[in-house]
Amino acid sequence: MPDRIPVTPGARGVPQVAMSRTSTLVTRTGSWKYIRPAYHDRVAPCNARCPVGIDIEGYLNLLREGRVDEARDLLLAENPMPAVTGRVCHHPCETACNRRALDSAVSIHAVERAMGDLAHQRPAPIPAVTRRAERVAVVGSGPAGLACAYHLARFGYGVTVYETAAKAGGMLRLGIPAYRLPREVLDKDIARVLAHGVEITCGVRVGVDVTWDELATTFDAVCVSTGAHTSRALGVPGESLPGVRAGLAFLRDVNDGHRPTLGTQVVVVGGGNTAMDCARAALRLGAQVTVAYRRTRDEMPAIREEVEDAEREGAHFVFLANPVEFSEADGRVRTLVCERMALGDADASGRRRPVPTGERFSIAADTVLTAIGESSALEGFFDDVTRSDAGLKVGALGGTSRAPLFAGGDATDLERTVADALGAGKRAAIGIDRHLRHRAGETDVDALRFGDGNVSAARWQGRDPVRRVDPVNEVVGIDDISLAQYRKVPRHDDPHLDSDCAVRCFAEVNAGLSTAEAMDEAQRCLNCGVCTQCDVCMIFCPDAAISRVEGGAYAIALDYCKGCGICAAECPRGAITMTQERA
Ligand code: FAD
Repeated sequence: MPDRIPVTPGARGVPQVAMSRTSTLVTRTGSWKYIRPAYHDRVAPCNARCPVGIDIEGYLNLLREGRVDEARDLLLAENPMPAVTGRVCHHPCETACNRRALDSAVSIHAVERAMGDLAHQRPAPIPAVTRRAERVAVVGSGPAGLACAYHLARFGYGVTVYETAAKAGGMLRLGIPAYRLPREVLDKDIARVLAHGVEITCGVRVGVDVTWDELATTFDAVCVSTGAHTSRALGVPGESLPGVRAGLAFLRDVNDGHRPTLGTQVVVVGGGNTAMDCARAALRLGAQVTVAYRRTRDEMPAIREEVEDAEREGAHFVFLANPVEFSEADGRVRTLVCERMALGDADASGRRRPVPTGERFSIAADTVLTAIGESSALEGFFDDVTRSDAGLKVGALGGTSRAPLFAGGDATDLERTVADALGAGKRAAIGIDRHLRHRAGETDVDALRFGDGNVSAARWQGRDPVRRVDPVNEVVGIDDISLAQYRKVPRHDDPHLDSDCAVRCFAEVNAGLSTAEAMDEAQRCLNCGVCTQCDVCMIFCPDAAISRVEGGAYAIALDYCKGCGICAAECPRGAITMTQERA
């Protein structure tokens, strides 16, 4: 006897509806669908945009779960110097952060810095490796060389780094001042590289003290990471007058502990990081500082925060000012004569080109520091290695046109930032490993990348520590995630020293976040592309077709899922993809 079919009581305005007291499982609504959902972890935009190739989403997620040591280890699997990058990286990850559409980007650099500092107090264990017989020489101990050496050591190679300066660190020590990167922080990040068995020999100029050929024949591979240390000249009359100095030479002096006499009025020429550091160092030596730049603020290549800090500390900016000559009085520079520029069309760099207006003006100067860029110079180097005006040409994994020479960082024609140098050093290490193990034919470099970003050393070693569900190498955009599932939470901004106090000394300006604040900030991560088992899909499914299975994943009862797509539309991470049913 079939169950009686009850009807709804028929309250006022509500039509009567037939209801079944028996199971509705017999109605296989899944047969209606032409698209079906599937869980596919995708790539967070921060990961794809990180020049180092850090699994940022991965370590923020571990922090969110309170798994601090695992987060540290995941970070260190890709980046040997997080305390450094947490302080000086230009953090394109934050520009790409989807959270910007909700309130503000996750303060990734600040979390990275806190993790880097924590790793100094609580060092990560050094992974056991199978030692390999081959030895590699790395020339230059800046971030590119140190990253290459670190990853090679983790792959099992013996590595010797040759450095011409008295101490390792490259521009991190010679260029960037201590108020942004305290030397004890840098020393501790370098100590981590040494702890992996890397040897650094300082005071050796390759190409002068030892030939490139000797290195290439003594070692199984060589990485060229010599940076770009020759300051570009303005090429205008009066540049050799006393009082006109290359900004980089001035910074090297200051970073060596000297306090050069500058006079009262200092003019800095340029708009990049070197110019900003010249301005801020000169302010700390008591000068009044004017920065002359030939384009406008929007086109300045310096990190935005550096420009803001320089301005806050008292630097005055004159934009659209192109130096045309230096005038003298009493045998030294007295004024910088500039031509007023206007902005024209975009040039090859995508920035609007400065065009002369013919109008001239002067800026009084006791000292002029020029900082319009640096070029690389390699003494005694092989003539047959392909290069462009910007530096050595390298392939996807750092190979030059002459095996077994690899290269990375500012010595090449790649982007010139600390993060790019670290990422390039890692690529060169993987390239060298691939070369020495004759694995060129079997490598799919794109499979090692985060989206179309940098490669992962962990993936190269075949042990991606983050378990991802049927991953696809596709970057998650803002339209792929449901922001309605989130509430606004203010970002933890870096506390800064008061500017009046900051310009009186070289103490670190940015005080950074505590570990607790950093862990709190990690909670703001949207975990774009990665299922965090938040249950939103299960809650929203109108057919109750989604259920939890052992181990925390979800199962979709496809016999009942009618392909409405609500789970994918509501997923706060963009980790569900709708795909067409096969005919
Ligand atoms: P480098 O850091 O230049 O290191 C190269 C090393 O090779 C040096 O130690 C050099 O002495 C050594 N060397 C050179 N020739 C030889 C040889 N023949 N034999 C042996 N050793 C040799 N980037 C950012 O991302 N953020 C910043 O805030 C920032 N600020 C900067 C501020 C200044 C003042 C400057 C100059 C640069 C700044 N940069 C910044 C850029 C960044 O420092 C560089 O892009 C990065 O250091 C390049 O790394 P690298 O390893 O290629 O070269």
